[in-house]
Amino acid sequence: MEESSEHLKVAIRVRPILEIDKVQDTAVYLNENTIQVTDSTHMVTSSYDCVFSSDSTQQQVFEYVKKGIEGVSRGFNCTILAYGQTGSGKTYTMFGAEWESNNPAPQVYYQNRIPRPVKKTLPINTSKIGIIPSSILHLFQITKGKPLTIYCSFLQIYNEKIFDLLQNPNRDKPLSIREERDNGIFVENLAEYVVEKAEDCIFLLKQGDRNRVVRQTRFNHHSSRSHTIFQILIEGDKANKRGALKRAKMNLCDLAGSEKFDKEGSMVKDHIQEMNSINKSLTTLGKVISALAGNGTGHVPYRESKLTRLLQDSLAVNTRTILIATISPASIYVEETLNTLKFADRAKQVMVKVKKNEISATNDQLVAKLQREIQHLKSLLS
Ligand code: ADP
Ligand code: MG
Repeated sequence: MEESSEHLKVAIRVRPILEIDKVQDTAVYLNENTIQVTDSTHMVTSSYDCVFSSDSTQQQVFEYVKKGIEGVSRGFNCTILAYGQTGSGKTYTMFGAEWESNNPAPQVYYQNRIPRPVKKTLPINTSKIGIIPSSILHLFQITKGKPLTIYCSFLQIYNEKIFDLLQNPNRDKPLSIREERDNGIFVENLAEYVVEKAEDCIFLLKQGDRNRVVRQTRFNHHSSRSHTIFQILIEGDKANKRGALKRAKMNLCDLAGSEKFDKEGSMVKDHIQEMNSINKSLTTLGKVISALAGNGTGHVPYRESKLTRLLQDSLAVNTRTILIATISPASIYVEETLNTLKFADRAKQVMVKVKKNEISATNDQLVAKLQREIQHLKSLLS
C-alpha cells in the first residue's frame, strides 16, 4: 500500500497593490521561497515551500497544486485552503477573476445525484480562472475513460451553520454533520451531483457561487464572513481489482477573512454573533493546526467548530494538504499580514500522512486465500 509522510505544503501569495491601498509595499517578495515583511519597528523574513509574487499568474499557482489534484485521481485525498484577511486575494486565487460579478441567481433546479446537461456553456478563459475551475478541468482530463464516478457538492458555513449552495440555497434550516464507518464524515442531505463532464461541474460551481451571493443579500451576509467548501468525490468501480482506487475526496476551501474585528466598534447584535462564530471556526482551525504541528500525541480539537469537524478526516490526516496564505502588500495591513504569516509558520510544521484509498481484499478473496492455506496445511499433515 502506497503510504508516505510529508510536510503540509504552505505557499504565500502576495496580491498586487490596488488603488484602495494608496501606500507603498510592506510585504516584499525576495525569492520563490522567501518573503520579507517590514513594519515600523522590525523586519520579518520567512521561508515557505513557495512564495508567489504579485506578478504571479493563475497558471503558476495552479501548477503548484497540480500534483495534489493528480493524486486524487489515484486515490489520495487532497485539501486546499485559502487563508488570509479579507481583500487579500483568497477568492481570486480559488475561483478567479471572473467569479467576482454579482450575477442574479438563475432559476434552475437540479435533482440530487442525477447527471444533468449543461444549459449553456460559455467559453472558459483558462488564463483567468482560479484553482477550483482549473482543478476541475484537469481532473476530468486525466480521468477521462476511467471507470470512475465523480460527484460534486458545494456548501457554505455561516455563523456555524452549514448551508447547501447547490440545492435549496434559501432554506433556513441548516444541515448537520454525520459520521459513518464506511463513508467517513459527511453532511446529511447535502446535494451531491454526479458530474460527467468538466463543463457540468463548472456550471454547478458557478450556480453555487451565485446562490452564495443571493444568500448574502437575503441575510445581509458578506462573503468575508463565511467559509465555502467545494468538494469533489471520486469513486472507483466496486468490482475493480484489489489495489484500484476506492474513493478519494478533494476539498477546496475559500475561508472567511482572518482579520480581527473591532470589538469596540458600533456593532449590531448580528455582527457580534457573526464575529464570534467566525472566530470560532478560524480559531479552532488555528488550534487544530497548532495541535497537529505539536508532537502529534495531544488532543486535536476538531469537534470545536463546524469547519474543522467537516475537515476532520481530510485535514492533514490521510490527505495531502496545501495551504495558500494570501497577503496584501500594503503597509496599512501589516499587522494582519504578520498574523497570516504566523498561521502559515505553524501550518508548515504539520506532518501529513498520505495514504492511498484503495480497494483491499474482498471477503471472497480472503476466503479463497484461507481455503488455500487449509489445503496446504492438510497436505502437510497427510
Ligand atoms: P478575498 O477573497 O481574500 O477577500 P479577493 O480575492 O476578493 O479577496 O481580492 C480582493 C481584490 O483584489 C479583488 O478585486 C481582486 O480582483 C484583487 N486581487 C486579488 N488577488 C489578485 C491577484 N493576484 N492579481 C490581481 N488582482 C487580485
Ligand atoms: Mg473572498
